[in-house]
Amino acid sequence: MSLKGKVAIITGAASGIGLEIAHAYAKEGAMVVIADLNEEGARAAALSLEQYGQKTMAVAMDVSNEQMVDSAVEKVIAELGSVDVLVSNAGIQVIERIENLEFDKWKLMMGIHLDGAFLTTRACLRQMYKQQRGGAIIYIGSVHSKEASPLKAPYVTAKHGLLGLCRTVAKEAAQHGVHANVICPGYVKTPLVEKQLPQQAKELGLTEEEVISKVLLKDTVDGEFTSTEDVAKAAVFLAGFESCSITGQSLIVSHGWCME
Ligand code: NAD
Repeated sequence: MSLKGKVAIITGAASGIGLEIAHAYAKEGAMVVIADLNEEGARAAALSLEQYGQKTMAVAMDVSNEQMVDSAVEKVIAELGSVDVLVSNAGIQVIERIENLEFDKWKLMMGIHLDGAFLTTRACLRQMYKQQRGGAIIYIGSVHSKEASPLKAPYVTAKHGLLGLCRTVAKEAAQHGVHANVICPGYVKTPLVEKQLPQQAKELGLTEEEVISKVLLKDTVDGEFTSTEDVAKAAVFLAGFESCSITGQSLIVSHGWCME
């Protein structure tokens, strides 16, 4: 599906799932903006996209900071002229039982996942409405937008919250031709998951191998991790889709970990 001529802002794209989506979009002809807290990583990621021959740029952005989000989106418009696709992807994980969870960690999670999704959505919608040529908003939710796991209260709460934001955007933005959907990946081997293996092993009294086989992948149909490429393919499809016939939906990409 060609994304030629479209400008796509992807948050948290210096690493993992976001970086893979950035490559997939650039291959399809999009001008990709890597927006990440990790400025150096964002610059390296943008450099790695130059092979596809499209314009690309890196912007420093803490998605939970209103001023940073607004000024980064203004910079994108000044340099690339439009915003057609937003992939709200930046995220973190916190592994802790509720009774031990510090309030600051709860707020950090809500700040990045929910404030971040709201702030980037608002900044991009304002521009998409002005452009009058539609647009796509894609939230990277999770199977934890649909189900819960122990030790992940703030993550599960935030990922469920994205469904509500997405559905509201779908209803408000349709008159401007903008559609909004959530992709819900299962476990993907990125730094976010690598980091939680020793933490889960300690909390659950298992080895890291057992955490993978007995916790993370136990409920998949084939014992496989979801790949970054699997998620990127779904993100290309949703970004290239022109009408609002698919909007307010959530697409689960999880090797059957979660079924509806
Ligand atoms: P990752 O750790 O590889 O990448 C996350 C990126 O987000 C990093 O580049 C990081 O610098 C950036 N980031 C963190 N805080 C930020 C902030 N405040 N502002 C801007 N950027 C920030 O992780 P990933 O696995 O690629 O995760 C990407 C998204 O996919 C997250 O929303 C995550 O919840 C979701 N997800 C991941 C999995 C998985 O198994 N890895 C499964 C389902 C959903």
